[in-house]
Amino acid sequence: MNEVVDILIIGGGPSGAAIAWSLAETKMRILCLEQGEWPNSDQFPSTGMDWEGRQQSDFSINPNVRKNSADYPINDDDSPIKIANFNGVGGGTVLYAGHFPRLLPSDFRVRSLDGVAEDWPITYKSLEPFYAHNDRIMGISGLAGDPAYPAKDQILPPVPMGKTGRMFGKAMNKLGWHWWPSDAAILTEEYEGRAPCINLGQCLSGCAQGAKGTADLAYWPEAVRARVEVRTGCRVSRIDTREDGMASGAYYFDKDGNEVFQPAEIVVVACNGIGTPRLLLNSASEKFPNGLANSSGLVGKNLMLHPYAKIWGQVDEELDGHKGPPVCLWSMQFYETDKNRGFDRGYSYQFVRGQGPARTAIDGLSAGQIPWGQDHHQAFRNAFGRSAGLVSICEDLPELTNTVTLDPEMTDGNGIPAPKITYRISENTQQMLDHSIARGTEILEAAGARNITSQSPLPYAGWHLLGTARMGTDPQKSVVNEWGRSHDIKNLFIADGSVFVTSGGVNPTSTIQAISLYVADQIKTRIYDLFD
Ligand SMILES: Cc1cc2nc3c(=O)[nH]c(=O)nc-3n(C[C@H](O)[C@H](O)[C@H](O)COP(=O)(O)OP(=O)(O)OC[C@H]3O[C@@H](n4cnc5c(N)ncnc54)[C@H](O)[C@@H]3O)c2cc1C
Ligand code: SF4
Repeated sequence: MNEVVDILIIGGGPSGAAIAWSLAETKMRILCLEQGEWPNSDQFPSTGMDWEGRQQSDFSINPNVRKNSADYPINDDDSPIKIANFNGVGGGTVLYAGHFPRLLPSDFRVRSLDGVAEDWPITYKSLEPFYAHNDRIMGISGLAGDPAYPAKDQILPPVPMGKTGRMFGKAMNKLGWHWWPSDAAILTEEYEGRAPCINLGQCLSGCAQGAKGTADLAYWPEAVRARVEVRTGCRVSRIDTREDGMASGAYYFDKDGNEVFQPAEIVVVACNGIGTPRLLLNSASEKFPNGLANSSGLVGKNLMLHPYAKIWGQVDEELDGHKGPPVCLWSMQFYETDKNRGFDRGYSYQFVRGQGPARTAIDGLSAGQIPWGQDHHQAFRNAFGRSAGLVSICEDLPELTNTVTLDPEMTDGNGIPAPKITYRISENTQQMLDHSIARGTEILEAAGARNITSQSPLPYAGWHLLGTARMGTDPQKSVVNEWGRSHDIKNLFIADGSVFVTSGGVNPTSTIQAISLYVADQIKTRIYDLFD
């Protein structure tokens, strides 16, 4: 049996990294078990010519396509939105776009403000110092003064807007709608020994330059220097409990396929909004027949995925093309509830640059804009480097019927049940998607675009995994308390997007990491009565 550790963190993504880094100063013995490996940037697709092909195979964002040994299958047949992730040290940040908005203050109070879902037990103010700290560690670029947010410090200058950004900025000014250069986890200057962005290529297949703020580069090296151990190739199958109902540690499969027990005083789960409920449900025992930390019955319920709509068109001017960070601006114009729109809550827009040649061709073909035949080459030239668009990120309200459960048949390479997703887009979210397409079309028209087309929901964009073990003060209505500790198991914490009460209408990683740092802070300040 392995030696007991003080803190066992399961999952080495951005949430696991942030909590490990913060707790390292306590000098407790900390171990992170991660099923994947350290990313090897020499092998990232952006180092070769075939990067778009590899985005459809070994570097797909979809684990069911990628099928690496670190991946586990996800049965998402019963969902119009397919799940995207990355399993390895750094987690999803290895493939993410680095768009780095915070939730807005209203997101924490949706029941009080709009009479929907539940209020969070914490506020924007509670998380503010942790957002700021996380920005400094990740190296966030952006422009101070966005009127949509409370004032905040910016660390690095914003990613250049480029021709695409300027075009959309002018279009938004014509309409009188809010826009601002995005906060991005992309270094615009050398920072803490890391090199700046050189517009290498598509950030969504790994940044070989190391300019993207990923958890394996921004957090883990310092945590490891502070003596945190990261044990890779180790897939946790279940968390075990003692007679008194406290967690005793976890079983995992090592690289050789041996099942090993790792004892621990405290267990932190950081496997994301799907991996975490999967693990808790698979940890069912005689004492906890419905899974661990599940007396509320809410583990795996209220899955929120942020349905996306995409609206794009073609312009005469040659734009920036596909090489460079994909996102340059955001808009919060339709973020807050306006009952006249026919739905509660709202969405943000993310404006995006062009796509690579293969993606341009595939999307153009399916939209009927680049047909085969005589005009094929001309149609391609009109689209490639001259297409631009925006996506809407719609707030998905929690629904008990949107779930992660254990698949009765499908298993991963170690025989652990795969997660099964059951997910429907609600009427409220559908109206939001439709609204965002209509307004997005107006924006493209104001930008002078033609051949405007849209897709909704984006079918392969299930990359924000939220809400499946939510936080709250009432043990009957939540899984963890207001500082991330399980109501049922007093030495079990959750530090990832599962704890979100509502999803907001923006990308979640800055909030996930802020929560993770906040949970670490709570553990440190409450250490004397942590289990009371
Ligand atoms: C293509 C793509 C683009 C994205 N773009 C953005 C963006 O622009 N902005 C943004 O904010 N977010 C974006 N995201 C989402 C972002 O990546 C996630 O919000 C973030 O990574 C979640 O962090 P996490 O630590 O909670 O989970 P993850 O990053 O998923 O990390 C969880 C880790 O746990 C490990 N793990 C899971 N189960 C086990 C187990 N049983 N045993 C051992 N290890 C386990 C996994 O291998 C993984 O490394 C994007 C995601 C993708 C895939
Ligand atoms: S565009 Fe910049 S951040 Fe993105 S992969 Fe290239 S160098 Fe890295």
